[in-house]
Amino acid sequence: MQRLAKKWQGDGIRIGFVPTMGYLHDGHISLVHEARKRVGKKGMVVVSIYVNPTQFAPTEDLSKYPRDLRRDLKLCRDNFRSRVFTPTNEEMYPGKAGSRRGDEADKRGYSTYVVEEKLSRTMEGASRPTHFRGVTTVVAKLFNIVLPDVSVFGQKDFQQATIIQKMVADLDFPVKIIVAPTMRERDGLAMSSRNKYLVGDLRRQATVLWCAIQIARATVKRSKTFPAAKLKAAVKKLVECEPDARLDYVEFFDPETLAPAAVARPGVQMALAVFVGKTRLIDNTRL
Ligand code: AMP
Repeated sequence: MQRLAKKWQGDGIRIGFVPTMGYLHDGHISLVHEARKRVGKKGMVVVSIYVNPTQFAPTEDLSKYPRDLRRDLKLCRDNFRSRVFTPTNEEMYPGKAGSRRGDEADKRGYSTYVVEEKLSRTMEGASRPTHFRGVTTVVAKLFNIVLPDVSVFGQKDFQQATIIQKMVADLDFPVKIIVAPTMRERDGLAMSSRNKYLVGDLRRQATVLWCAIQIARATVKRSKTFPAAKLKAAVKKLVECEPDARLDYVEFFDPETLAPAAVARPGVQMALAVFVGKTRLIDNTRL
């Protein structure tokens, strides 16, 4: 992949990159379109499909994460002139548990990680302490392999996009980061590969994240400023009206520094994570 990317670079071909974990949906596809727009007809768009083990905690859903590589490849082939990059665990993390390459690097074991130390402490980072270390590590590796001029991330994972932007600035990666809007189902549920787990009534209950966002937006529109603690309590109450839903967190914060806001007002970012049954869903919005 890196050899190809260097050749494209040498030929003056711009490279757009969309990292994903596969099981592609219209949210991912919108990022691919955005990447194509940025690099133009003559550019190359690379989509990586890799379920990155280092961003999952041992208790999380790594082995159960939905996969359908054949369908993903067909989607990419049918819709765009894009290249798909599907590295293996052996290639990405030689020598780590579960990887079996057996060469010299393997025997020494993979041991280098990229860690962002401020923005990754709250919200997703507080609930999933090793998550962002895995994300920044794999994205840094993918940037070094794919050598993109532009890379597109979804606003759906707002904190992740903010941390990637910080990593790129701090470590001088020569890549422009674009954050593209969240694609939603007709009833407001943010598209996600994990929505596959929402069977029966859980699918209906999952719309509670979108309801919470709308209630917070309406409250702030009406009263301009509103105590964040009071709004958090209202969101918790709303979520827990659903029989199988449990609020993990809801936060109001500055969209750039991610510093918590004591008052919710227009321009403040809101993010929440909710378990619906066993499935953990996240969503966010600018108020
Ligand atoms: P994932 O495969 O979940 O790791 O996501 C890959 C990329 O797609 C990330 O940049 C996500 O933020 C983005 N993404 C996921 N869901 C959506 C969505 N509903 N709308 C737009 N982008 C999304």
